[in-house]
Amino acid sequence: MDVVPGWNDELESAFSAYKGPYVAGRVASRHKTVCEILIPGAVVQAGISGALRRIGKQPVVGDFVVLLNHPESGSRMIVNILPRRSCLSRGAPGDGSGEQLIAANIDTIFIVTSAGKDLNLRRLERYLTVVYSSGAIPVILLNKIDLTDNPTSLTEKIKSVAGDVPVIPLSALSKTGLYALSPYINPGKTAVFVGSSGVGKSTLINAFFDEDIQKTADVREEDEKGRHTTTVRQMFLLPNGAILIDNPGIREIQLGDSAEGLEKAFSEIVHVAHRCRFKDCTHHEEPGCAVLQAVKDGIISEERLASYQRLTDELIFQSKKSEIGLKRLEKEKYKKIAVAAKKYRELGKP
Ligand code: GDP
Ligand code: ZN
Repeated sequence: MDVVPGWNDELESAFSAYKGPYVAGRVASRHKTVCEILIPGAVVQAGISGALRRIGKQPVVGDFVVLLNHPESGSRMIVNILPRRSCLSRGAPGDGSGEQLIAANIDTIFIVTSAGKDLNLRRLERYLTVVYSSGAIPVILLNKIDLTDNPTSLTEKIKSVAGDVPVIPLSALSKTGLYALSPYINPGKTAVFVGSSGVGKSTLINAFFDEDIQKTADVREEDEKGRHTTTVRQMFLLPNGAILIDNPGIREIQLGDSAEGLEKAFSEIVHVAHRCRFKDCTHHEEPGCAVLQAVKDGIISEERLASYQRLTDELIFQSKKSEIGLKRLEKEKYKKIAVAAKKYRELGKP
């Protein structure tokens, strides 16, 4: 590894603003306060600069970052994040508001499902909505086809909700169908695997390595004594220069700011909806609703419309939640200003 994995001309020109002690790297995994960073020839650990944290910029796995080496202590600090070309995010869990970034600079997102009880079309629609909003290309993988007598019917079932997204049946365990992934596994390109636990993501990644993955990824982490020890946890480099990222924490997904993704994931409904009598038709019971008519005519399935409406409601809820969050932030800001002003006035008193 003599370059930063996934590095390109655009990044080179963005990085050209930095001279001297700065080093470019890529976040391979993110922990609470430190990140593991791939730099040419090594994996190093780096903290996040206070300035970045204060302005709310958080590096995530896949990010290209600018590092500054502290000349005396030798410790490294992430001082900036280079422009992202794609961004996978989800709604923040709990009562938090806004977006939670999951991974950046991804080219392909493999949504992995498996033959058997994991196969859930509604969940796939949810994944597609989130992935469509990311700017990366979605591809659906139907794993464990060795467990079914009729992979074709399962593939067809998935295709009914997949629109233009390719659906690839395969078996990671018996290594069948893997070749169909090769158009997406290219030098310098980054692919991410998402999906429920147990669908076979790790097995799939392992299948791309002839030997044990830990031995093949020729990136090492330096310990304090400068010895090379463990390898990175989440990012894997294939011998051809492609980069794979294992499940970057997107098991249970909530929609984030995914309105655009929703439109793409349900493009056939959106297309028909242009013919509804009312512009703001919700396709529940309005007269002249072209979508309800299409359901009646068997062109759009009832489940699909219900799913679209459920996800739409969720998006509306999410956006209200983040609005409330914003209002709270504003309030806190003014409270702080008021306190500061009071102190200031008191200072001025004789
Ligand atoms: P992950 O949680 O998505 O990373 O799933 P794993 O890769 O850990 O796989 C979960 C289980 O499914 C393991 O017992 C695997 O051996 C099994 N598995 C993975 N791929 C296949 C497959 O293609 N066929 C079958 N039958 N089992 C598989
Ligand atoms: Zn309508």
